[in-house]
Amino acid sequence: MENCVFCKIVSGEIASRKVYENDEIVIFHDIEPLARIHYLCVPKEHFKTIAELNDRRAEVLGRAFVTLGRILPSLGLEGGYRIVINQGEAAGQTVPHLHLHILGGEPLKWEK
Ligand code: 5GP
Ligand code: ZN
Repeated sequence: MENCVFCKIVSGEIASRKVYENDEIVIFHDIEPLARIHYLCVPKEHFKTIAELNDRRAEVLGRAFVTLGRILPSLGLEGGYRIVINQGEAAGQTVPHLHLHILGGEPLKWEK
């Protein structure tokens, strides 16, 4: 997808601090972290929302969670972490390429 910052990170056109990559997903540090540790987990295929999931994309996401559960404790998140998916502009989605925010490395508040 032209002009998508995450597609450019996937292709290597834009540099990122990658911590994990396989043929389906890439995980890298968010450029503007909202917690001491803030990773983004991005499926390599471009699509914007969970409303656009199909069986194949759902399987990729499912395998991504298996991978996350296996590797996150070794990426500084042994104390716990939060996974967030912003969906749509009103929820703060600024990059129209589905991604999981992974936040941790410090106590995280959970309040309204
Ligand atoms: P959203 O607001 O769409 O849920 O999240 C997009 C995230 O992408 C933001 O947290 C933002 O800091 C991050 N981001 C935007 N551009 C770049 C970039 O070029 N490199 C990296 N590593 N993160 C980016
Ligand atoms: Zn994209």
